[in-house]
Amino acid sequence: MTAAKTDEAEILAAADALRRWFAAGLKPTIARAYMPESMPYKRVLRIYRIYGRKSVSAQGQLPVPANILESRLDGVEGALFLSVYRRLAGPALPPGLPNPDTVIAAHRRYIEIRLAAGLDRIREGKEIDLSACWVLANALRCGTVQLRKCRRGHTYVTADMQARPLCCDFCSIRESGRLNAPFNDADGEYMREIEEAEKKEAIERARRNSALCDGN
Ligand SMILES: [Zn+2]
Repeated sequence: MTAAKTDEAEILAAADALRRWFAAGLKPTIARAYMPESMPYKRVLRIYRIYGRKSVSAQGQLPVPANILESRLDGVEGALFLSVYRRLAGPALPPGLPNPDTVIAAHRRYIEIRLAAGLDRIREGKEIDLSACWVLANALRCGTVQLRKCRRGHTYVTADMQARPLCCDFCSIRESGRLNAPFNDADGEYMREIEEAEKKEAIERARRNSALCDGN
């Protein structure tokens, strides 16, 4: 293939990915990091204007993790998204920027679990948007955001430069007595769902490993 043809094939593949990402709500400032050099940003923006969501601005800086996770309830939202993301991306996170398709799949699942758990009823419109979720996924990979386990078994999230104490949001919300019924559901239900999936995956991994050993 000639260089021009390779460029054109590359651009077509990139444009395909852009349509998918913009329809899901990704910001062009993030999408551009994945584009080949042959793809001009003007073209990225043109695709964004056709397929992007009206609610997503092309402008504006990306939020920083400590702001996304500002309150304890924001921390609960972040822990939910990142637990799902880590499960989909694999516990050993792949090097390089997060795969936007994995972030989109995890975001979709996060919104579903959030609805099922009743978090949406007490936090209407306060879900973490896709681009902010991408920031969290990237920060988890870089280590500036951490997923931890508290002694009661909750998975919670902490961020570098976080203003509030670095303790489990589930436990501190419970201790402050601010828990209400739907939130209780959210705490229990979604963590159970994620832990079940993690358990299943660990069993599956162990099975695969032992199959590999038997093969030797
Ligand atoms: Zn806890």
